Amino acid sequence: MQKPKPPYKVTVIPGDGIGPEVTAVTRRLLEAVGAPIIWQEAEAGAKVFRKGIPSGVPQETIDSILDTGLVLKGPLETPVGYGEKSANVTLRKSFETFGNIRPIRIIPGVPTPYYGRNIDLVVVRENVEDLYAGIEHMQTPNVAQCLKLMSRKGCEKIVRLAFEVARAEGRTKVHCATKANIMKLTEGLLKRTFEEIASEYPDITAQHIIVDNCAHQLVRFPEQFEVIVTSNMNGDILSDLTSGLVGGLGFAPSANIGRDVAIFEAVHGSAPSIAGKNLANPSAHVLSGVMLLRHLGLFAEAERLENALLYTWGSGAAATSDVAPLHEAVGTSVFAELVESNLATAPGRTQTRPYRPWDMGRVYSCDKQPAKRQDVGVDVFIESTAPLQEIGRELERCAQGLPLTLTMISNRGTKVYPDAVAMPDLVDHHRCRFNRKAGAPMPQDADVLELLRRISTIFRWMHCERLLEVEDKPAFTKAQGEN
Ligand code: NAP
Repeated sequence: MQKPKPPYKVTVIPGDGIGPEVTAVTRRLLEAVGAPIIWQEAEAGAKVFRKGIPSGVPQETIDSILDTGLVLKGPLETPVGYGEKSANVTLRKSFETFGNIRPIRIIPGVPTPYYGRNIDLVVVRENVEDLYAGIEHMQTPNVAQCLKLMSRKGCEKIVRLAFEVARAEGRTKVHCATKANIMKLTEGLLKRTFEEIASEYPDITAQHIIVDNCAHQLVRFPEQFEVIVTSNMNGDILSDLTSGLVGGLGFAPSANIGRDVAIFEAVHGSAPSIAGKNLANPSAHVLSGVMLLRHLGLFAEAERLENALLYTWGSGAAATSDVAPLHEAVGTSVFAELVESNLATAPGRTQTRPYRPWDMGRVYSCDKQPAKRQDVGVDVFIESTAPLQEIGRELERCAQGLPLTLTMISNRGTKVYPDAVAMPDLVDHHRCRFNRKAGAPMPQDADVLELLRRISTIFRWMHCERLLEVEDKPAFTKAQGEN
C-alpha cells in the first residue's frame, strides 16, 4: 500500500442500525484529537439494497474508496436467506482486504470473569478465502456443498501480515491455529506456509496449535497468546470468543487490510434492537478509529485517544448499557463527551505498546511450480439411490477399454464400495474414484470425457475433480477407509 500523505482522505460509511451513532462519535473524536482527515461521506448496506442495488455498495462508494484507499465504516445489515449478497463481503472482496486484524485487551473498569488478568492479544483472520468465498451448490436436491478454497498466496499474505503485526507492536509470539489434522490440504497449506515463513522472523516465536485446542486454551489461559493467525471461518469464531473475554462486542475493533485499501470497523453488527436509542457502546468503533490513526502513522494521536477512552472506562465515571444496568448507564453521546473531555486531562498510561509502522513490502512472492506433476485419475460425483453393488457394476462397465479403473466409491467421505469398514447412512451423493489402470498410459482429457459421456447415459453426474500427483505424491486426500 502506498503511504498516504496528510491531509488524509478517508471514506466514511455510517452504515445501518447503531452505525450512524457510533461512526459519528469516532469521527468527532478523531477530529478532536487533531487528526488531519478529510472525510468523504458514502453509503452502503440496507438503504442501498432498498434502492435495488444487489451488491449493497453503489458505484459512488466504490469510486470514493478507490480515491481514498481508507474507510471508516459502520456496521452493515446483511439480508438473510436468498437474494442479495452481504455488502460487507462485497467490500472485503472488491478491495481484496485479505487480512482482518482484531485486537482485544482487558478494558480497565469493565467487569468480566477475566478481569485483572493480562489479556492483550490480536487475532489475524484471513478475510477473503476459505468457506467464505461463498461458492456453494446444491449437488443434489438433498446435498449441499460449500467449497473451501485456500491458496498458497492467500496463506502467505495472512501469515506475513501476522508476523508484521507482531513486530510492529513489539510482540514476541505468533500462534497459527488450524484444523490441519483433519483438512490436511486446505488448513494444512496454512500450517505449512506458516512454518516456512516463520524462519524469516527469528525474533518471533512461532507455534502451531489445533484450532479447537486454541479455543479451549483461550478460555482457560488467554494470557499465553499474543497474535493468532488463522483461516477465515476459524478466525470469525475465535475472534468473537476473544471479544467475549474482555466485555463483549462493544469493545472489539478491527481493521481489514489490503494492498491498496484498508477498512476500519467495529466487529459488532448493526444491533437493530438498540438502534437510534442512544444506547450503543461506541468503544469498539472508537478503537477502530485508533487503529486507523496508527495505520496513518499518527501514533501520538492514537495513544492520546486510546488513553482517554481507557481512562473514561477505568475512572468508573460512566458506562454504557451493555456493561451497566440501564438505570445507571449513560447514553452514547454523554459517553462520547466524557472521552472528549478526557482527551486533554487523562493522565498518561505507564505501560503502552511500542507501536511502529508496518513493513509489508515483501508480501506476495507466491505461486510455486513443482518440477513434476501429473494427473493420475479423476473423482466423478454422481447422484443415485441405486444399490451400491449396482452402481459399482455400472461404473466398472463405463471404464472398460479406458486407461482408468474404478477403485472406490465413497459417501460423504467414507468408503462404501467395493467394501466398507462400516456402512454409513447413505445419501444420494457418491464420489466415484477412477485411478490409472496398472500398466496403462496416463489418462488423457479425452479418456475422462469419454468416461463422463458413458456415465451420463446411466447416472446424473454433478461434478468431477482431477486427481493430481505432485512430485510423485498424491495431491488429494483418501476417503475414510480407503487404503
Ligand atoms: P450485532 O449487531 O453485533 O448485535 C448483537 C447484540 O450485541 C446486540 O443485539 C446488542 O445486544 C449487542 N451489541 C452489539 N454491538 C453493541 C454495541 N456497540 N453496544 C451495545 N451493545 C451491542 O449482531 P447481530 O444481531 O447478529 O447482527 C445484526 C446485523 O448486523 C445483521 O444484519 C448482521 O448481518 C449485521 N452485521 C454486520 C457486521 C458488519 O458490518 N461488520 C458484523 C456483524 C453483523 P443487546 O441486544 O443485548 O443490546
